[in-house]
Amino acid sequence: MTQMRIIMTLKNFLLPLSSLATIACSSAQEQHPNIIYVFPDQFRNQAMAFWNEPEFAPHAGWQADPVRTPNLDNFAKESVVLSRAMSNCPLSSPYRGIFLTGMYPERSGITLNCMAERPESSLREDAVCISDVLSANGYSCGYIGKLHADFPTPNDPQHPGEYVSSRRPEWDAYTPPERRHGFSHWYSYGTFDVHKDPHYWDTEGKRHDPKEYSVKHETDKAIEFLRNTSGQRKADAPFFLALAYNPPHSPYESLDDCMEEDYNIYKDMSLSELYVRPNADTTLSKAGAARYYFANVTGVDREFGRLLKELKVLGLDKNTIVIFTSDHGETMCSQGTEDPKNSIYTESFNVPFIIRYPGRLRPHVDGTMLSSVDIYPTLLSLAGLGDKIPSSAEGRDLSPVLLGNGADCDVPQAVLYIRNVNGEQDADGLVHGVFPVARGIRTSTHTMEITINRDGSLKRVLMFNDKEDPYQMHNIDYKDNPELFRSLCDTLAIKLEEARDVWHRENTLEKALKSAHCLGN
Ligand code: CA
Repeated sequence: MTQMRIIMTLKNFLLPLSSLATIACSSAQEQHPNIIYVFPDQFRNQAMAFWNEPEFAPHAGWQADPVRTPNLDNFAKESVVLSRAMSNCPLSSPYRGIFLTGMYPERSGITLNCMAERPESSLREDAVCISDVLSANGYSCGYIGKLHADFPTPNDPQHPGEYVSSRRPEWDAYTPPERRHGFSHWYSYGTFDVHKDPHYWDTEGKRHDPKEYSVKHETDKAIEFLRNTSGQRKADAPFFLALAYNPPHSPYESLDDCMEEDYNIYKDMSLSELYVRPNADTTLSKAGAARYYFANVTGVDREFGRLLKELKVLGLDKNTIVIFTSDHGETMCSQGTEDPKNSIYTESFNVPFIIRYPGRLRPHVDGTMLSSVDIYPTLLSLAGLGDKIPSSAEGRDLSPVLLGNGADCDVPQAVLYIRNVNGEQDADGLVHGVFPVARGIRTSTHTMEITINRDGSLKRVLMFNDKEDPYQMHNIDYKDNPELFRSLCDTLAIKLEEARDVWHRENTLEKALKSAHCLGN
């Protein structure tokens, strides 16, 4: 190898400059693209201003939040923008499990949010993560920001034998090198919600407490990774960078939670100006949160813009796939619920998915329904590694859709929605198993969810016509619309089987329908 390199170096040295340029160009073309995957937490699809612009609005069918997102607006115009990307299990940890492993929660290991009372909900060590595949194929992989995929154990690198904080039950976690799945550069934590006093453990396990807005700090770290200031990545290899901002996740209650310059944009807006969705209940105690939530949306936008600018300055923009998405949305007073996520309502279920790959992806808006499980095979395929997708991956490769060759692939007819809650709790408070309380689907026209009681009987049916009722304000009575209900149940049954879901194995849907004498049973 060394001899080869010397010969190559000598050869290059002897070539005229024009030939050198040709070599550099051809090697760049042969190299797999870099990938930057940016996923702030709880960033709803509606919180991007471009959806109100003429070329985007007809694809949405609803009004965007009154937010300032100039960088995302420009980025969207250079990208494929999916209007119907859904988070199969719209919660932090289950989403991350799906994204990293390409498997539904039952197989990824992460069925519920990771915390110390749920020892069974943790990223499987033996899973082949997307970063495992990329690193095995020559990529330098870096993870910056919130991981929230590991069960917290007493493994604080600074205080061996202790949890990383004295909080009980513990939610935050330190991820040791053997659990990093191919990420050789590390600057991350489990979960922690103080946006201006974040902390991180680096590749060597050293803790950092930078005392500044986490989105800015993580962008600085991402820029250092791009610049490769201290050997964060192999200089001659493609890279994969996962950047997981925590904002605009809660808290969103005071100036401790966002940057004042961003808050000032929204501080004088009335509740009726802030809440443009007719399904929002501004009498909820949470109503004031929108100003801080939107401030963090703008903060994320600014820092994302700074990252893109640096990518361009470094000349890396052309051969880099950049994705902007989120783990789930935020209801923000819609549907009268205080719960920001973990529901099938579109504000929680629908996430941004904007992907830019200059020269390969023609910018357009696409209504294809993307499931979180599809991201893994789709990204690997776009990176030229379609033949390396492991058989464990459960989603579909939708790269033909993104490339504008949708006819070449089996376009999904629906997205599966999954909601689990705690299973049994033992005397020590530890949770064992999960109760799969609800399953649902989103099709190109409808949303349907079935919730069951602990005895398996039917508890509730939600059914919306998303085309005619984009704010989901009229729950269609399933008893009065048996044909529609049957058709959506049939689609749900297909998705449950496809996902090898516990509801399929245990005939849960059929039993629930029988319990309520639905569909003539
Ligand atoms: Ca989350």
